[in-house]
This record gives sequence, structure tokens and C-alpha cells, in this order.
Amino acid sequence: MTASDLTRSTAAELADLLSAGSVSAREVAAAHLERTAAVDGAVHSYLHVDAEGALAQADDVDRRRAAGESLHRLAGVPIAVKDVMATQGLPTTCGSRILEGWVPPYDATLVSRLRAAGMPILGKTNMDEFAMGSSTEHSAYGPSRNPWDLDRIPGGSGGGSSSVVASFQAPLAIGTDTGGSIRQPAAVTGTVGTKPTYGGVSRYGLVALASSLDQAGPCTRTVLDAALLHEVIGGHDPLDSTSIDAPVPPVVEAARRADVTGLRIGIVRELTGEGFQAGVQTRFDEAVAHLVDAGAEVVEVSCPSFTYALAAYYLILPSEASSNLAKFDAMRYGLRVAPEGVDAPSAEQVMAATRDAGFGDEVKRRIILGTYALSSGYYDAYYGSAQKVRRLIANDFTAAFETADVLVSPTSPTTAFRFGDKLDDPMAMYLNDIATIPANLAGIPGMSVPSGLAEEDGLPTGFQILAPAMADDRLYAVGAALEARLTAAWGGSILDRAPELAATTTKEA
Ligand code: GLN
Repeated sequence: MTASDLTRSTAAELADLLSAGSVSAREVAAAHLERTAAVDGAVHSYLHVDAEGALAQADDVDRRRAAGESLHRLAGVPIAVKDVMATQGLPTTCGSRILEGWVPPYDATLVSRLRAAGMPILGKTNMDEFAMGSSTEHSAYGPSRNPWDLDRIPGGSGGGSSSVVASFQAPLAIGTDTGGSIRQPAAVTGTVGTKPTYGGVSRYGLVALASSLDQAGPCTRTVLDAALLHEVIGGHDPLDSTSIDAPVPPVVEAARRADVTGLRIGIVRELTGEGFQAGVQTRFDEAVAHLVDAGAEVVEVSCPSFTYALAAYYLILPSEASSNLAKFDAMRYGLRVAPEGVDAPSAEQVMAATRDAGFGDEVKRRIILGTYALSSGYYDAYYGSAQKVRRLIANDFTAAFETADVLVSPTSPTTAFRFGDKLDDPMAMYLNDIATIPANLAGIPGMSVPSGLAEEDGLPTGFQILAPAMADDRLYAVGAALEARLTAAWGGSILDRAPELAATTTKEA
């Protein structure tokens, strides 16, 4: 097989080739690293590439396979990890200057599970600073680019993880989703992204943005690959007190069966129509028709409290973030800046100078907002009210799931926008997550699968599926059924229609 065949293969295909002995783990890792050397100058998916580490892990898998050891089915399949997950011996910056140069002394649980499965870690992917954003333009290290059009955003905050799989630099990646940062990047790059049930994947070692909303999950090119990865990283972890002590839902089986016969699909009235780009809406309607054709039933549901989801989210998230980010004080991790012109600065002066230099505008904006919302006298009016809205949203979901087994909507209201289009308008940026945020507020699982290309701009559109807590398998059943129909109609993967990236292209941010 050529290196380019290997990088175009899915994780499931690579796993088969590896276990049959047709390729070595080293060849697979090397092919992906070669692809990165050729295209990442243009795409900028990675903040750190660990070629040496990945090849050493691959060699170890090859050695163990040769010795006849029984290995995990994904052993030797390489993966890229969002730079918000702690990786022992590998830099972890969260896209921020404040953590520049920090090398964690431990692995996140999810990372330990990847290592235990024998999955070589290729590197750490770019992101909006501390996962705040929808475009990667808030990364302190420059944005990632959308492989479909290098002048457009790859989504955010996990645009490094979406673009790394969309540009065939890795078959699999890890993302995190606090308000949509796995699903929206998937939607705008023509890839698959799952936010598991809150507590379904350990948060130990995930640098917290908003602890009650954060959830790590798979970024892939196919639904089956997402399921295979979900199974590796999911499951109870005693190191995370919010981790659910129950088996991982049968996601792989659901993805393989792809059966939606008799399944009730609820279209959420508040998440379609007005405000959604015409081409996004058209592809959504067609996807629903495909699912009906596959045996599903359609019902319409209404979730009236969703109108307030964005407002509640932008109080709860900054409140939690302002508290979580207090630990970056120049004393414990990363950057330390001495205040200018002060002879013997106090600890407070060093903290202030460091936080001023180390945090970007969006992070500062949210710390100020959160501190204000939590301050005495305003707590009830802002944070307290937002928590009540959160409850109403969860109640809306509970009611909707009485008449529907899954809920669906477009993932993102538009296709990928151009760099700079929303950067100076935080509200416009926040509106990207209108359809994804309710799931985080309620803790339920969600997935985005490609639904096609919008007529008006030829760019990918995403179809969102939501399910009740711990019914993650339903996402995979619906996602796989839709994927099967659409890839048959398209005659292959949507990514086959993306422009080929020139190996020599380099583009400055
Ligand atoms: N774009 C959303 C935000 O800026 C979502 C972020 C996320 O999911 N990490 O908060």
C-alpha cells in the first residue's frame, strides 16, 4: 500500500490491515507524519507534533504483535489529541501563552487509555485559547485552516482536531465539547464528531473550561470510527467524581447495525428554519427524508426554553471559567512575567502582569463576565437565573424524549465562514453554537455527521443528532444509517470531494 492509501484509510480499515499483518504500525504512523510534513504548513492543525514518540509507540506495538501478544483492536492506529488534554512529557498549552512551555507530569485518563490500547499519539492539536471560540482564531498560536478552503475557519474551539482528520493527517482525533466544540468543527469540515453523555468519558486531566459542561469525545471521518474510539476512551474513572459508573453504551454494535426501523426522530422546531443558511436547511431536510426512507418516523417537537439557552450558557460558562482559570497565577504553571518598572514586585503584581500578558482578549472578556455574574448582589440575578433556565432546558428535553427517541437539527446555522468575519463581534461568534449548546446544558449526548454541501458555497453542512443521557448508542445507529444512505448517493465519502491540498502550499496566518 502507498503512504497516501494509508492516510485515506479509516481507522477501522487500518485496524484490519494491522491485525492481518499487511502493514506495520510504524508504516501507518510514518505515512501520517509524512502527510503532516507536506500539508500542515498550510492547515496548521498541530501545535506540537511528536514524531519520535509516535514512532516509538508504533514500534512497541509491532514488537508486541510479532511476539504474539493479544492486542487491542485499534493497536497501531495513530491519533491526534486536542491540546487541552494533559499528556505526560508532551507540551500542553490549551492554545494559550499562559501555559507556554508547560509539560504535564501526568497523563489524562483518556490519554492513558489511548496508550494502553497501543494507539500512537501523533501530536497535540490547535484550539481556541482555553476552548473559548468557534473558529480557532482565538488561539494564541494562530488559527487552523479549513481544508475545504484555506481562507475559512475549521470551526472551534477544536478546529485543530477537525482539520487534522479532514486533511488526512490522522484517522482519529480527540476533541472536547463544552458548547459545541466537537460538533460544530465536524459540521464545517465534513467530518464526524461526538459529544458523549456528560460523565461518559473521564475529565481527569482535561484542563477545565466549564466543569459542568466539558466533555471529551471522538473526531473522525466515519461513524464507525467514532464508535470504536468512543469505546476506548469511555467508561468509569474513579479519578473523576462526575464519571458515570456504568458500562459504555453499545456504540460499536449500533454503528455496525445502523438500524433506524421504527425509530421516532424528533425535529426540534426552535432549531430549524429562521436563522439557518438556506443550503444548510435544504441538506437537513434531505437527510431527514433519507432517514424516513430507512424506516424512521418523524415527529415535530417544541423546546420553548431553548430560546434562552445561549444567554444561560454565556453566564454559566464564564462563571465556571473565571473560577477554573484562577489557578493560572504565575506561581504554579507556565508563564511568569515581572511587572515593568517595579523593583521588588509583590506576588499580586506578578500575577496581574502574568495574567495580563498570558491571556488573550476572549479569555479576559469571559473572566470579567463570570466574576461579575458571581459577585454578591448579582449572583441571584445572573448566575442563579441561568441555573434555573438550565433546569427548564433539561425539562424540555425530558418532555421531547417522551415523543421522540432522538432529536435532530442542523449542527451549525451556517457553513464555514471566512477568517475575520466574526472576530470583532463576540455575539455573532457565540451564535454559532445556538443548536449545540442545549445538549451541554442538559448533559445529554450529541453527534454531528456530514449531510452534504450547501449549494450556495459548496461547503460542508452538518446534521446533529441528540439522544437521552446514556443512550449514546442511538446517535450511532442514526448517524450510521444516514452515512450509509448519503455515501451511497454520493458514491463515496464527502471528503473525496474536498480539493486536494498542494503539498507545497504554505499560508501565513
Ligand atoms: N464556541 C463555544 C464557546 O466559545 C463552545 C466552546 C467549547 O465547546 N469548548 O464557548
